[in-house]
Amino acid sequence: MEQAEDLSQYPLELTGKNVPMVRFKKVAKRYGSLTVLEHLDLDVAEGEMVTIIGPSGSGKTTVLRTLMTLERINEGVIYVDGKPLTHMEKDGKLVPASQKYLRAMRSKIGMCFQHFNLFPHMTALENCMEGPVHVLGIPRKQARERSEELLEMVGMADKRDQHPSRLSGGQQQRVAIARALAMRPKVMLFDEVTSALDPEVIGEVTNVIRRLVSDYNLTMLMVTHQMGFARDISDRVCFFYRGRIEEQAPPSELFGDPKSDRTRQFLSAVK
Ligand code: ADP
Repeated sequence: MEQAEDLSQYPLELTGKNVPMVRFKKVAKRYGSLTVLEHLDLDVAEGEMVTIIGPSGSGKTTVLRTLMTLERINEGVIYVDGKPLTHMEKDGKLVPASQKYLRAMRSKIGMCFQHFNLFPHMTALENCMEGPVHVLGIPRKQARERSEELLEMVGMADKRDQHPSRLSGGQQQRVAIARALAMRPKVMLFDEVTSALDPEVIGEVTNVIRRLVSDYNLTMLMVTHQMGFARDISDRVCFFYRGRIEEQAPPSELFGDPKSDRTRQFLSAVK
């Protein structure tokens, strides 16, 4: 059994100017003897789009999964919107969070996966309304209006009454993005959202994400293998290598003039 970490070195909450929307502070994640994240420090500012690239197995998806609280971290603290994600303050100390606190923190984060996982028995519109009505308790009429707006934004208004099985992969992914946005997250996570798609429909999904970047002040963290897309869309690109950030820079710099040999090797291999 692992010894509990002393968390007194971590602030109970982040305050002051320029509090990042997401902060990983010395986060370690292990599976048995395999270290997947090694004392990771990563900040994402409000409204920033950060893309994570790197070899398979370097820990990219784990970063997103720990943010979704799908994986427990072994060391360190993750802050979202200034507050610890899985801990809360009690008597001046950080203690494991209650279910209620965790639910509130989770609601700040939306995620889209490679496999869209829409509810198959519901229409596109019902998929978008489900969370707002049943989890957030928003009146149906209001949830419907907002969902219709979001489906319009992702170019799916005319398909709102279709079930997922009648939609193409690209269309399902666009509904999945609208559904995640309907929960009004402060942070959106995208994990390889174009990997399962046919090449000809990838553009319709990347265009939706482009719109989110230009029109919404959302904080976004994206894992992708599409280097061209990462280059176009990101404010910052982080190259992961063995659970650490090997190099991070604005895309023009990271792709145009990588400093690390490992980054250079990776980029020349994926081109
Ligand atoms: P990436 O997204 O960069 O491909 P991941 O974050 O998915 O990498 O995985 C990082 C490492 O963690 C890989 O070596 C993977 O095999 C391992 N891993 C992921 N999930 C588990 C798990 N549930 N149990 C054991 N090992 C895991």
